[in-house]
Amino acid sequence: MRTVRGDEPPAADDAAWEALPKRERHRARRTRAAPQRARADAAGADEMQRAALPPALDDGLVVATSRGPCTVELDDGRLIAAVLPKALARDDRSAVAVGDRVRLARRAHGELVVREVLPRTSQLARPDPFDPRRRRVLAANLERAVAVASWRRPPLATGLLDRLLVALASGGVGAAIAVNKLDLAARGSAFEAELEALRPYRELGVPVFPCSATTGDGLAPLRAWIGGRLVAFVGHSGAGKSSLINALEPLVVAAVGEVARGAGRGRHTTTQPQIHRLADGTRIVDTPGVREFGLWQMSARELAAYFPEFEAHAARCRFNDCSHAHEPLCEVRSAAERGTISPARFATYLRILASLDPA
Ligand code: GDP
Ligand code: ZN
Repeated sequence: MRTVRGDEPPAADDAAWEALPKRERHRARRTRAAPQRARADAAGADEMQRAALPPALDDGLVVATSRGPCTVELDDGRLIAAVLPKALARDDRSAVAVGDRVRLARRAHGELVVREVLPRTSQLARPDPFDPRRRRVLAANLERAVAVASWRRPPLATGLLDRLLVALASGGVGAAIAVNKLDLAARGSAFEAELEALRPYRELGVPVFPCSATTGDGLAPLRAWIGGRLVAFVGHSGAGKSSLINALEPLVVAAVGEVARGAGRGRHTTTQPQIHRLADGTRIVDTPGVREFGLWQMSARELAAYFPEFEAHAARCRFNDCSHAHEPLCEVRSAAERGTISPARFATYLRILASLDPA
């Protein structure tokens, strides 16, 4: 891995270059114009930096973000605070998200700055609740995600699960469902009836983990499914995401926001997603609870693709661009009426479709 230093002039085509504050660009230009002096300066600065902080600060994983600096975990496990260049932070609140791998540089006075966000392999995004035209990335590079629901308090809301599954699939993240508070679930046949609501997901191959953070029941398979990966827990507030994380590992490293707070810039708040690390290497992004989960714009065709059980029926719709909402001779709707397709999931599909702008 390459070490990036603040005194290294970036390549002309480097997008991060544009993101650097003027002062920084000016300094780098000067450096390029006077390479010899710069080398001498850099050597001196390097000496001082080496004395102040261990060397080899290069790439890292963003484990918490705030309005000020973000907290970055280096490959050796150290946590450091790094500033996001102002231009980047102002123009795009999703410029850096928890889970991003970033390349760091050091400014002249020693402050660490995010120079580059490495390409994402996946993401969980939604429209900014305050400005729906903007995409907010809640977490990047997720390997898997768990949609957390509960049996009671709050009651199982499959509509929210459906939305979360669409958002995760469109961001390239494989999902499972954890239904927490098993200790509050009904017993016997009443439990079987409630379990019915989850059958469509099982049939789609989505793992379903009934569990209880309180009793520890059902946690082992959930732990195995997330084991060693970067995952997110998403779901209704109060479903028990934090409790589950604590139950999975009582000594979970929870206070990753501390570093950024200690730097005295911006206050870490629990409304921001943050990463908890378990002893087995699993990293869990705890996202703020949501009652609603807005979806990013997509076409009817794309939306339908996130309901894979529609596909075989859609092939037999009268119109091959059928949106399954109002067209005659729609086989998807017929299948939902017969119960071959889950009527609840079909209803969610129609609700989401109605909420999208006509594409
Ligand atoms: P979050 O908002 O999803 O992070 O939910 P919390 O973890 O804060 O939990 C919300 C409430 O549910 C708290 O009062 C927890 O004590 C309670 N809770 C969490 N897990 C369980 C569980 O398995 N069983 C029961 N009975 N209560 C739980
Ligand atoms: Zn149709």
